[in-house]
Amino acid sequence: MGAIMAIISSQSSPQPDQSKGRSAAPDVPMLASQRTKPTQPAGSILQPKANPQEQTGKQDEKLRPQRLSEYIGQGELKGVLDIAIQATKSRQEALDHLLLYGPPGLGKTTISLILAAELGVTCKVTSAPALERPRDIVGLLMNLQPKDILFIDEIHRLSRMTEELLYPAMEDFRLDITIGKGQSARIRSLPLPPFTLIGATTRVGALTSPLRDRFGFVQRLRFYEPHELCQIVLRTAEILTTKITEGAALELAQRARGTPRIANRLLKRVRDYAEVKNSGEITQEIAREALELFNVDPCGLDWTDRRLLTVMIEHYQGGPVGVDTLAAATGEDSQTIEEVYEPYLMQIGYLHRTPRGRIATPAAWTHLGYQPPQEQLHLLP
Ligand code: ADP
Repeated sequence: MGAIMAIISSQSSPQPDQSKGRSAAPDVPMLASQRTKPTQPAGSILQPKANPQEQTGKQDEKLRPQRLSEYIGQGELKGVLDIAIQATKSRQEALDHLLLYGPPGLGKTTISLILAAELGVTCKVTSAPALERPRDIVGLLMNLQPKDILFIDEIHRLSRMTEELLYPAMEDFRLDITIGKGQSARIRSLPLPPFTLIGATTRVGALTSPLRDRFGFVQRLRFYEPHELCQIVLRTAEILTTKITEGAALELAQRARGTPRIANRLLKRVRDYAEVKNSGEITQEIAREALELFNVDPCGLDWTDRRLLTVMIEHYQGGPVGVDTLAAATGEDSQTIEEVYEPYLMQIGYLHRTPRGRIATPAAWTHLGYQPPQEQLHLLP
């Protein structure tokens, strides 16, 4: 049986079903400080976060692998999940709660949908900013069927009240809600069906420990190797019925920052270029030309990456420099620098995070055409 996916936004969050005699959600006012501010992603094609069309696009859904066997890479994670799926199926229980962490675009949502498909249950997909009011999460939890999966993206951004409602829900499949106010306030416990919460986050360190401790599995997704991304590009090209040579697929893979979402996006943009400039087939030559036009360099760095490194080198002699200073100097948001740009720059060895600040490594100096000074070498761990 295939998994059924429901994407839920704050507007469409189901309300508690009062027709079945269930109580209304607690009407707790939101503090302004609890509203989460969306971070504005840079408008680059190397941005690993999904853009609005990709979040809802039917075509993007077509590109998602449906089963674990189709999911390329992340061998260790797949091994753990394979065992968990088999054990859960044989015990006929709900899968234990799972926390997935890693940079955006690596396949956390995809894994959740695959788990639902493998277990033959429904996966409801939402994200923490859509669960502003406590009644949003109450509505969702009360509408779950036994063994269903609830996927919450950006789980580190949950409001405190929503998070506290989740504790008994995760641990005892119970919802504790407060009815009434002041002296007449009472706590009512409502039973919930056994369900699985899958939380996804780019910042595992930002989760509170009571929440983190309630997950049975905590799994990290790592950046993909070029040969894995090459397979992903070839698979996507087949789904999109686009002709591409292996050389071109590897070219895209090498510039996709270890991220499947970026690999797929580059493929789509290069496909447009090939259709306009060529017969439609993507050759290595065409891929290189297009990527140069889109400002994606052979290491997968874009304008913002190069700007960050250049500012570090030219203004701060390569660092150490604090992330807030770097944000102010480049006009980027410090959270975007930390979550989107730095993980890949660290992965390819161009940047180090130290207690005293960020340091551009000699490899970064050389890549950008600068001569690294001797003192810089001593600063590196
Ligand atoms: P995340 O939730 O981590 O931001 P997604 O699960 O939305 O990432 O994945 C982004 C896109 O990358 C998906 O549309 C999917 O098509 C593709 N993708 C992710 N992981 C894989 C994989 N292992 N194999 C093939 N495609 C993948």
